[in-house]
Amino acid sequence: MILENFKKVEEKIAVSCFNCGRKSSEISLIAVTKTQPIETIEEALKAGIKDLGENKAQELRDKSDLISGDFRWHFIGHLQTNKVKYVIKAADLIHAVDSIKLANEINQKAGQINKKQKVLLEIKTSDEATKFGLRNEKEIFNAAEFCAQCSNIDLVGLMTMAPYVSDEKVIRQCFITLRETKEKLNRAGFRLTELSMGMTNDFKIAIEEGATMLRIGTAIFGERNY
Ligand SMILES: *Cc1c(COP(=O)(O)O)cnc(C)c1O
Repeated sequence: MILENFKKVEEKIAVSCFNCGRKSSEISLIAVTKTQPIETIEEALKAGIKDLGENKAQELRDKSDLISGDFRWHFIGHLQTNKVKYVIKAADLIHAVDSIKLANEINQKAGQINKKQKVLLEIKTSDEATKFGLRNEKEIFNAAEFCAQCSNIDLVGLMTMAPYVSDEKVIRQCFITLRETKEKLNRAGFRLTELSMGMTNDFKIAIEEGATMLRIGTAIFGERNY
C-alpha cells in the first residue's frame, strides 16, 4: 500500500514537473510520518523513501532512537526552545525556525555537539494557516541576519504552510509570497536554495511555484489516526 501510494505521488510530481518545465530531481519528497508507528516507517523505508518528517519533538527523538539507516529526518513542526535538545541530534533539517530566540538555542545546542544545523525560516504567508511564522520583512531579515552570524547554523531556505481552503488562488499566493521572499533575501546577499512548501492537498501548486521540498503525509500513509 505504502509503496503503491509512494509511486503514485512520485508520478504526480513527475507530471506536474513536466507540465511546468521543471526537473523532478530538483524536488525532494519528505514523507510525513507523524503519528505513524515504527512498522509503518520501516515499510516506507523499504519502499525507497529517503526523507522522513516529524512534527513533535519527543516523537522524533523516540523514533530516531529506534530506527536508523540511509535516510534523513526532518523536523517540520513548531519547535519550542526547551525542546531543541530532543531534535538536535537526529534532525538533518529543522524547517520551522520562527524566532531569533529559537535560532539562538539551536545554535547553542548544535555547538555542543559540533554540528552545523541546517534550518529554514518559517514564514507566515497567510492569516489563517498557522499561528506561527515570521510575519513581515523586518522580522524576516532580522532572523536571517541572526542566522547568518551563528557559526553552528546553516540557513538554507524558507518554509510555509498554506491555509486549508478550496480557493486555489489563496494557496498559490502563499507560495508566490514565499518564493518572492527568498528572492528578496538572495538579492540582499543571502544564498537560500530551498523552498519547503506543499502538502497532500496543494503540492501541485507548490511545484508550479518553485517548491524544492514537499511535505506529504496523507497521500502516502492514508488518513491519520490521532
Ligand atoms: C502534517 C503535516 C504535513 C503533511 O500533511 P498532509 O496533508 O498529511 O500531507 C506537512 N507539513 C506539516 C508542517 C505538517 O504538520
